[in-house]
Amino acid sequence: MKLLLASNNAKKLKELQRILDQAGLDSVELLALRDVEAYDEPIENGRTFADNAQIKARAGVTHTGIATIADDSGIAVEELNGMPGVLSARWSGAHGNDTANNELLLAQMEHVPDERRNAAFVSVCVLALPDGQEFVQEGRWEGQLLRGPKGENGFGYDPLFIPAEEIDGQGRSSAELSAEEKDALSHRGQALRGLVEKIAQVAAAS
Ligand code: IMP
Repeated sequence: MKLLLASNNAKKLKELQRILDQAGLDSVELLALRDVEAYDEPIENGRTFADNAQIKARAGVTHTGIATIADDSGIAVEELNGMPGVLSARWSGAHGNDTANNELLLAQMEHVPDERRNAAFVSVCVLALPDGQEFVQEGRWEGQLLRGPKGENGFGYDPLFIPAEEIDGQGRSSAELSAEEKDALSHRGQALRGLVEKIAQVAAAS
Protein backbone atom coordinates (compact mmCIF):
# COMPACT_ATOMS: atom_id res chain seq x y z
CA MET A 1 0.00 0.00 0.00
CA LYS A 2 1.19 3.51 -0.84
CA LEU A 3 0.90 6.22 1.79
CA LEU A 4 1.59 9.86 0.99
CA LEU A 5 2.89 12.22 3.65
CA ALA A 6 1.77 15.63 2.37
CA SER A 7 5.09 17.27 3.22
CA ASN A 8 8.62 17.56 1.95
CA ASN A 9 10.04 17.99 5.44
CA ALA A 10 12.73 15.27 5.55
CA LYS A 11 12.62 15.11 9.36
CA LYS A 12 8.86 14.52 9.43
CA LEU A 13 9.24 11.87 6.75
CA LYS A 14 11.95 10.02 8.67
CA GLU A 15 9.90 10.27 11.87
CA LEU A 16 6.87 8.64 10.23
CA GLN A 17 9.09 6.02 8.58
CA ARG A 18 10.59 5.09 11.98
CA ILE A 19 7.10 4.78 13.49
CA LEU A 20 5.90 2.58 10.60
CA ASP A 21 9.06 0.44 10.97
CA GLN A 22 8.53 0.05 14.72
CA ALA A 23 4.97 -1.09 14.03
CA GLY A 24 6.27 -3.65 11.50
CA LEU A 25 4.31 -2.07 8.66
CA ASP A 26 6.74 -3.18 5.92
CA SER A 27 4.01 -3.34 3.29
CA VAL A 28 3.50 0.44 3.49
CA GLU A 29 5.48 2.41 0.91
CA LEU A 30 5.85 5.92 2.27
CA LEU A 31 5.93 8.74 -0.30
CA ALA A 32 6.64 12.45 0.10
CA LEU A 33 5.22 15.23 -2.06
CA ARG A 34 8.31 15.16 -4.24
CA ASP A 35 7.53 11.51 -5.14
CA VAL A 36 4.12 12.25 -6.66
CA GLU A 37 3.00 14.37 -9.60
CA ALA A 38 3.21 18.00 -8.53
CA TYR A 39 -0.04 19.76 -7.58
CA ASP A 40 -0.76 23.24 -6.28
CA GLU A 41 -0.43 23.00 -2.53
CA PRO A 42 -3.45 24.51 -0.76
CA ILE A 43 -3.29 27.68 1.32
CA GLU A 44 -3.13 26.78 4.99
CA ASN A 45 -5.68 29.31 6.16
CA GLY A 46 -7.35 27.28 8.90
CA ARG A 47 -7.79 28.67 12.42
CA THR A 48 -6.73 25.44 14.09
CA PHE A 49 -4.10 22.77 13.61
CA ALA A 50 -6.90 20.32 12.78
CA ASP A 51 -8.29 22.60 10.04
CA ASN A 52 -4.87 22.96 8.40
CA ALA A 53 -4.01 19.27 8.64
CA GLN A 54 -7.36 18.43 7.06
CA ILE A 55 -6.82 20.96 4.24
CA LYS A 56 -3.43 19.37 3.43
CA ALA A 57 -4.58 15.75 3.74
CA ARG A 58 -7.67 16.33 1.58
CA ALA A 59 -5.59 18.07 -1.11
CA GLY A 60 -3.18 15.12 -1.17
CA VAL A 61 -5.79 12.39 -1.54
CA THR A 62 -7.84 14.42 -4.02
CA HIS A 63 -4.92 15.08 -6.35
CA THR A 64 -3.17 11.71 -6.12
CA GLY A 65 -5.82 9.15 -5.16
CA ILE A 66 -3.33 7.87 -2.57
CA ALA A 67 -4.14 7.59 1.15
CA THR A 68 -2.60 10.75 2.61
CA ILE A 69 -1.37 11.80 6.02
CA ALA A 70 -0.85 15.47 6.83
CA ASP A 71 0.45 16.99 10.00
CA ASP A 72 -0.02 20.52 11.22
CA SER A 73 1.93 21.47 14.25
CA GLY A 74 3.43 24.27 16.24
CA ILE A 75 4.24 25.60 19.65
CA ALA A 76 1.56 27.00 21.96
CA VAL A 77 2.88 29.34 24.66
CA GLU A 78 0.54 29.78 27.63
CA GLU A 79 1.65 33.36 28.33
CA LEU A 80 0.82 34.27 24.69
CA ASN A 81 -2.66 32.73 24.86
CA GLY A 82 -1.59 29.71 22.82
CA MET A 83 0.32 31.58 20.12
CA PRO A 84 2.40 31.23 17.94
CA GLY A 85 0.04 28.23 17.43
CA VAL A 86 -0.94 27.83 13.78
CA LEU A 87 1.37 30.76 12.95
CA SER A 88 4.46 28.97 14.33
CA ALA A 89 6.19 28.51 10.97
CA ARG A 90 5.75 32.20 10.04
CA TRP A 91 5.75 33.91 13.44
CA SER A 92 8.36 36.48 12.38
CA GLY A 93 6.75 36.99 8.98
CA ALA A 94 8.99 34.92 6.76
CA HIS A 95 7.75 31.34 6.36
CA GLY A 96 10.10 28.77 7.81
CA ASN A 97 12.80 31.16 9.08
CA ASP A 98 13.57 29.27 12.29
CA THR A 99 16.24 31.68 13.53
CA ALA A 100 14.05 34.77 13.12
CA ASN A 101 11.03 32.98 14.64
CA ASN A 102 13.03 31.87 17.65
CA GLU A 103 14.58 35.30 18.20
CA LEU A 104 11.19 37.01 18.08
CA LEU A 105 9.62 34.56 20.52
CA LEU A 106 12.55 34.90 22.94
CA ALA A 107 12.31 38.71 22.79
CA GLN A 108 8.55 38.63 23.44
CA MET A 109 9.10 36.37 26.44
CA GLU A 110 12.20 38.13 27.75
CA HIS A 111 10.62 39.61 30.89
CA VAL A 112 8.29 36.71 31.63
CA PRO A 113 9.39 34.93 34.82
CA ASP A 114 10.24 31.23 34.92
CA GLU A 115 6.96 30.18 36.49
CA ARG A 116 4.98 31.64 33.55
CA ARG A 117 7.01 30.06 30.69
CA ASN A 118 4.82 26.99 30.11
CA ALA A 119 4.54 25.89 26.50
CA ALA A 120 3.48 22.82 24.56
CA PHE A 121 4.24 21.46 21.14
CA VAL A 122 0.98 20.42 19.51
CA SER A 123 0.45 18.26 16.44
CA VAL A 124 -2.72 17.22 14.70
CA CYS A 125 -2.35 14.45 12.11
CA VAL A 126 -5.11 13.63 9.65
CA LEU A 127 -5.28 10.45 7.57
CA ALA A 128 -7.51 10.92 4.53
CA LEU A 129 -8.47 7.82 2.55
CA PRO A 130 -9.53 7.65 -1.11
CA ASP A 131 -13.04 6.54 -0.07
CA GLY A 132 -13.56 9.82 1.83
CA GLN A 133 -12.97 8.52 5.34
CA GLU A 134 -10.83 10.70 7.60
CA PHE A 135 -9.15 10.00 10.91
CA VAL A 136 -7.78 12.67 13.23
CA GLN A 137 -5.28 12.33 16.08
CA GLU A 138 -3.83 15.04 18.31
CA GLY A 139 -0.62 14.91 20.30
CA ARG A 140 0.56 17.38 22.95
CA TRP A 141 4.02 17.61 24.49
CA GLU A 142 4.20 19.84 27.57
CA GLY A 143 7.26 21.77 28.68
CA GLN A 144 8.73 25.22 29.20
CA LEU A 145 10.48 27.86 27.14
CA LEU A 146 14.17 28.39 27.76
CA ARG A 147 15.79 31.87 27.70
CA GLY A 148 18.16 31.09 24.85
CA PRO A 149 18.78 28.37 22.26
CA LYS A 150 20.37 25.12 23.42
CA GLY A 151 21.22 22.03 21.34
CA GLU A 152 21.79 21.21 17.69
CA ASN A 153 19.29 18.46 16.84
CA GLY A 154 15.74 18.80 15.63
CA PHE A 155 14.36 21.91 13.93
CA GLY A 156 12.11 24.91 14.52
CA TYR A 157 11.62 25.76 18.18
CA ASP A 158 13.41 22.63 19.50
CA PRO A 159 16.41 24.59 20.88
CA LEU A 160 14.04 26.75 22.99
CA PHE A 161 11.92 23.96 24.48
CA ILE A 162 12.63 21.95 27.59
CA PRO A 163 10.24 19.01 27.81
CA ALA A 164 8.48 18.44 31.15
CA GLU A 165 10.23 15.05 31.34
CA GLU A 166 13.61 16.84 31.41
CA ILE A 167 12.85 19.68 33.83
CA ASP A 168 13.81 17.74 36.97
CA GLY A 169 16.23 15.46 35.17
CA GLN A 170 19.18 16.26 32.92
CA GLY A 171 17.57 19.48 31.76
CA ARG A 172 18.07 18.82 28.06
CA SER A 173 16.20 20.83 25.45
CA SER A 174 14.33 18.92 22.74
CA ALA A 175 17.24 19.83 20.42
CA GLU A 176 19.50 17.78 22.72
CA LEU A 177 17.44 14.59 22.52
CA SER A 178 18.22 11.88 19.98
CA ALA A 179 15.68 11.41 17.20
CA GLU A 180 14.46 8.19 18.88
CA GLU A 181 14.08 9.89 22.28
CA LYS A 182 12.13 12.72 20.68
CA ASP A 183 9.84 10.30 18.75
CA ALA A 184 8.94 8.53 21.97
CA LEU A 185 7.78 11.73 23.66
CA SER A 186 6.89 14.22 20.96
CA HIS A 187 3.52 15.65 19.97
CA ARG A 188 3.88 14.30 16.41
CA GLY A 189 5.05 10.89 17.64
CA GLN A 190 1.93 10.65 19.81
CA ALA A 191 -0.41 11.72 16.98
CA LEU A 192 1.22 9.47 14.35
CA ARG A 193 1.23 6.44 16.65
CA GLY A 194 -2.50 7.08 17.14
CA LEU A 195 -2.98 6.50 13.40
CA VAL A 196 -0.84 3.37 13.09
CA GLU A 197 -3.63 0.91 13.84
CA LYS A 198 -5.85 2.45 11.16
CA ILE A 199 -2.96 2.41 8.65
CA ALA A 200 -2.40 -1.27 9.45
CA GLN A 201 -6.09 -2.03 8.82
CA VAL A 202 -6.06 -0.17 5.50
CA ALA A 203 -2.83 -1.92 4.47
CA ALA A 204 -4.26 -5.32 5.37
CA ALA A 205 -7.40 -4.64 3.31
CA SER A 206 -5.52 -3.43 0.23
P1 IMP B 1 4.13 22.98 9.79
O1 IMP B 1 5.30 22.30 9.17
O2 IMP B 1 3.32 23.79 8.86
O3 IMP B 1 3.32 22.04 10.63
O4 IMP B 1 4.76 24.07 10.77
C1 IMP B 1 5.17 23.72 11.98
C2 IMP B 1 6.05 24.78 12.59
O5 IMP B 1 5.91 24.59 14.00
C3 IMP B 1 7.52 24.54 12.25
O6 IMP B 1 7.99 25.45 11.32
C4 IMP B 1 8.20 24.74 13.57
O7 IMP B 1 8.54 26.08 13.72
C5 IMP B 1 7.15 24.40 14.61
N1 IMP B 1 7.27 22.97 15.03
C6 IMP B 1 6.40 21.96 14.81
N2 IMP B 1 6.86 20.82 15.33
C7 IMP B 1 8.04 21.10 15.87
C8 IMP B 1 9.00 20.30 16.54
O8 IMP B 1 8.90 19.06 16.71
N3 IMP B 1 10.10 20.95 16.96
C9 IMP B 1 10.29 22.27 16.78
N4 IMP B 1 9.44 23.06 16.15
C10 IMP B 1 8.31 22.48 15.70
